[in-house]
Amino acid sequence: MRRCRACGGGVEDEFRFCPHCGKAQRTKIVEYFQGHPDVGDGGLRVSVYLTEPKHARLSVWRGEEAQAAISLDPDESGRLGRFLLAAGRHRHQSLVSRVLSHL
Ligand SMILES: [Zn+2]
Repeated sequence: MRRCRACGGGVEDEFRFCPHCGKAQRTKIVEYFQGHPDVGDGGLRVSVYLTEPKHARLSVWRGEEAQAAISLDPDESGRLGRFLLAAGRHRHQSLVSRVLSHL
């Protein structure tokens, strides 16, 4: 267990944020999303930079090479997140509606 540099509280190694004060424990958070196997290969790497200039770097990977990349500012990153959440809810609601229509 590490100590938060901001408040001194205990922070598990895998935590990205301090559970006591919320301070980011890293300067960058990275997550990799695998491409849909039926539609294409490769994947999407999303790197969220927590220091200035704060932004999210989205890069499309095929093998060990980035094919393209773009950086979004925090407002656009949030808009992308809300868009994906709303699309997911719509898909879920459609599935529920179809199931209910058979009852
Ligand atoms: Zn802290």
